[in-house]
Amino acid sequence: MDIKNLENIDITLSTASKINEVDFDNLSFGNTFTDHMLVCDFENGVWKKPSIEPYAPFMIDPSAKVFHYGQAIFEGMKAYKDNQDDVWLFRPEQNFERFNKSASRMAMPEVPEDVFMGGLKRLLEIEKNWVKKGDGNSLYIRPFMIATGKGVVAAPAVFYRFMIILSPAKSYYSGEVKVLIAEHFSRAANGGIGAAKAAGNYSAQFYPTKLANEQGFQQIIWTDDATHTKLEEAGTMNVFFRINDTLHTAPTSERILDGITRKSIIDLAKRENINVDIRPVLVEELVEAAKNGSLKEIFGAGTAAVINPIVGFSYKEEYFELPKNEDSFAIDLKKKLTDIQYKNAEDTFGWTV
Ligand code: PMP
Repeated sequence: MDIKNLENIDITLSTASKINEVDFDNLSFGNTFTDHMLVCDFENGVWKKPSIEPYAPFMIDPSAKVFHYGQAIFEGMKAYKDNQDDVWLFRPEQNFERFNKSASRMAMPEVPEDVFMGGLKRLLEIEKNWVKKGDGNSLYIRPFMIATGKGVVAAPAVFYRFMIILSPAKSYYSGEVKVLIAEHFSRAANGGIGAAKAAGNYSAQFYPTKLANEQGFQQIIWTDDATHTKLEEAGTMNVFFRINDTLHTAPTSERILDGITRKSIIDLAKRENINVDIRPVLVEELVEAAKNGSLKEIFGAGTAAVINPIVGFSYKEEYFELPKNEDSFAIDLKKKLTDIQYKNAEDTFGWTV
């Protein structure tokens, strides 16, 4: 689809913009939405013509399969504005590919590229005033798909709705993050849906995370479900461990989301001649490294926070505080990555679109 060709997309503009009611200096993440949304329905084997409409609630049958069987997937990406007022996406084709991998794992139809990418670019053209310049400012993009087909029969639906909604965001600061290493609960299992961005992966984490919060931890670092000995990822982030001057992170697998920030950090670190070791990292190695002083940093990596340093972790009732580093890899790599995203540095990787 040619996104400039308005015939391929029905556009109904809102009569009044909400933009002047928004306090862009005091945004809480994910609670404010722009004026328009993209909608595209899949009916009996075909994708219909997409539309851009005023952002609004919509009707859905109470028996829709999304409510009963959780057929729902999503993506999370961001648009950034540079000093010339141009709007940029960061590796959006990666989100598109991952979305369709999630779709196929959940027995949902794949979304065509012209609907996902063409629709997104058209929507961003309309909403470009919602993307604010300046460090940390961005427009968070949430593409998602739900099963709208009716019937409380446990089988895939034949009707689906793909949508994109947009939410202006400030730089994400979650305060000091202390993490608990999972000993009992699991996020994902071999053969399961951990590598898909399926809604149920997130709701399954709410209860164990709530218990961790009650103990004073902001997040859980998930371990492998079979043995709870290998460190895998955090709630909505992949995790990196710096032992001496080597960065360690788990390989992606059926249990781990193939994060776009993770793979970008790996490439950037290699370019900076930082040693990157991609292999299963054992909990006991981490504890040992914390005890002998070789553990320098732990940080999470994901679109929302970019890089989120972790100040300490707890395992089997023992708490380990991380040292404060002058030469933090987390801070350095975050700066290098955001400089590319905001076009403050040359994008030698060709990541920005
Ligand atoms: N792991 C999980 C479970 C996530 O939800 C996310 C966020 N999408 C990530 C890792 C990080 O992925 P990305 O860097 O692509 O945002």
